Amino acid sequence: MKLKQELQSLYDKYKNDRSGQVNNSIPALSQVNPDAFAISIAMANGKVIEVGDTTTNFTIQSISKPFIYGLALEQYGNDFVESKVGIEPTGEDFDTVIKLDDQGRPYNPMVNSGAIATTSLINADTKKTRDEEVLSCLSNYAGRKLRLHTPTFKSEKDAGDKNYAIAHLLKHHQILGKNLKSDLELYFQQCSVNVTTTDLAMMGATLVNNGINPLTKKECVSPTNLRHILSIILTCGMYNYSGEWVFDIGVPAKSGVSGGILMIVPGLMAISVYSPRLDKRGNSIRGIKVCEELSRIYNLHILDNSSPKTPAEIL
Ligand code: GLN
Repeated sequence: MKLKQELQSLYDKYKNDRSGQVNNSIPALSQVNPDAFAISIAMANGKVIEVGDTTTNFTIQSISKPFIYGLALEQYGNDFVESKVGIEPTGEDFDTVIKLDDQGRPYNPMVNSGAIATTSLINADTKKTRDEEVLSCLSNYAGRKLRLHTPTFKSEKDAGDKNYAIAHLLKHHQILGKNLKSDLELYFQQCSVNVTTTDLAMMGATLVNNGINPLTKKECVSPTNLRHILSIILTCGMYNYSGEWVFDIGVPAKSGVSGGILMIVPGLMAISVYSPRLDKRGNSIRGIKVCEELSRIYNLHILDNSSPKTPAEIL
């Protein structure tokens, strides 16, 4: 079956699956339509194939983390970034508070502590504010101007006690400094940027296409830092499900608590799914099911001996 029909049949198979719970730790996220469901695929050349509610906006949440980690790498280089944030999986919940490594660093940039630390590093050039720098980074990957969803930003600020606790612990370890409040607000802003599955798929296609947006041709990240991003999301992108994810699905991926998943198939395509009902680790239930099926159908596991399908076979 060709990709478009395959997506339609996966959409039909799972559209009535109502298992899981919408996130309720950020009040604005619990307001969304729990049944929304969309799948978008962007090929390395930017061609998009998609089904479902692909024009529905949702906040990017933790899927912003690898892109902002990449921005910190571009601004400071890996040695400095790694002196602040490690590169090891935690095996724990993404918002665990008291969990730093033996050097007093967050374990990795994909859990909240590590993402708050990397975001705190972001500098803006003289013509921009730091939030414009973050927004334009994400927008460059998507190939269009993305916008902040202010109600979610406010809600994260009001309900973010755990993240405040994390930030204070980081300050105690001198990972954050006197700008704790503005660093944390910048982190809440990056999580509250609205996207569609089409946007996420294009952001992923930029990673697949050597860091260059396939449509705008804008270079968003250097090849070395791109490799760092993909390595981190392979080992840590799905939080404490990362090991099982690599075992079963076998490609780098990142999820967010709004119900998005972005999965990267190196050299071939990026797949994004949106479905807000989550499992207990904060990953989209239908998202994981769709990714699992696509990996199996098209031999996408990067360690599989049989070669993956080619674009010509898929399309
Ligand atoms: N904004 C969310 C938080 O900080 C992001 C977490 C996530 O998507 N896993 O809790």
